[in-house]
Amino acid sequence: MLGGGVYTRHQSKLKLSFRLSVLWPLSDIMWPDFVCVVCLIIVHFQPTQAANTQTVSAFVIIDVQECFLEGGNLAVKDGNAVIEVINRIREKWQRFFTLTVLTKDWHCKEHVSFASSHSSRKPFEDVELNYTLKGELCSEAGGTVPGTVDCKGPTKTVAQKLWPDHCIANVTSGGTSSNLAKGLKTYDTDIVVIKGDNCQRDSYSAFWDNGNFSSTALHGTLKSYGVTTVYMVGLALDYCVFESAKDAKHLGYNTFVIRDATRPVDNTTGDSAVSTMLRAGVNVITSQQLDKLMEPSRAGNAQVRLIPDTMLLFIANVMVVVTAHSSASRSR
Ligand SMILES: [Zn+2]
Repeated sequence: MLGGGVYTRHQSKLKLSFRLSVLWPLSDIMWPDFVCVVCLIIVHFQPTQAANTQTVSAFVIIDVQECFLEGGNLAVKDGNAVIEVINRIREKWQRFFTLTVLTKDWHCKEHVSFASSHSSRKPFEDVELNYTLKGELCSEAGGTVPGTVDCKGPTKTVAQKLWPDHCIANVTSGGTSSNLAKGLKTYDTDIVVIKGDNCQRDSYSAFWDNGNFSSTALHGTLKSYGVTTVYMVGLALDYCVFESAKDAKHLGYNTFVIRDATRPVDNTTGDSAVSTMLRAGVNVITSQQLDKLMEPSRAGNAQVRLIPDTMLLFIANVMVVVTAHSSASRSR
């Protein structure tokens, strides 16, 4: 799953390089009777660092907000345990992440994902929502969600689980608080990306809403920093971490989910999410495995060490001289 040197993988390419070695002076000095012009093309293969293979990493902390923690309306079981793991990762490896992104679930009071926004619906019920192809919610399923439209043309159906009210924008206390977890280590340089801020659309993924109608700021932000690798943690494993990791992989990022820095809403769907992520090519690791992956960076060994050019040339030249000497001896 991890592969050797995943973090330090630089996809070295073999570049055929040619070296012209003129050995006349050397042969003249060592073997005066060996009169010839030795002009040999020494061909050797040299691993060459590709110019565009530098690893740029981002740490993406997904929805570690009070609404999903103990005392929150949508508290994830044992969710508070991720805070300590995330803080430890940040203390140890922060300087190796080019940027850290904190995502926030950020809903209006009558958000489409709230069971309370739909008459006679209960939390955790599964429903189907119809949208216009532009992503407007059809009024037939709208309930009290603002801004719904009367759908007459083609529609797109999106599956939706209904949740208790949670993570309401700018609410800073109580069960619907969208505040980041108290005790979560943050830095001034952290970038916050909100999702689910459209009343009519839910957004599990930190990249896209659930109907893929529009994107968040995350992909553009990561690209602007040249990020190639993302390490994801947070809540919940089986919904927002899962969908974010799948999208990250799909968008071409080398994607890691640090399992013990996440918790699922439900263990069964959590296990299923891990299997699906692995099949999709997402690396699911523990924070201990992350330490092992990152350790070479701290030791300064992240770069592939090459045998110096001059050393290769010297070795090749010695071999040619020895060969020539043997030929000369045999001819005597
Ligand atoms: Zn939500």
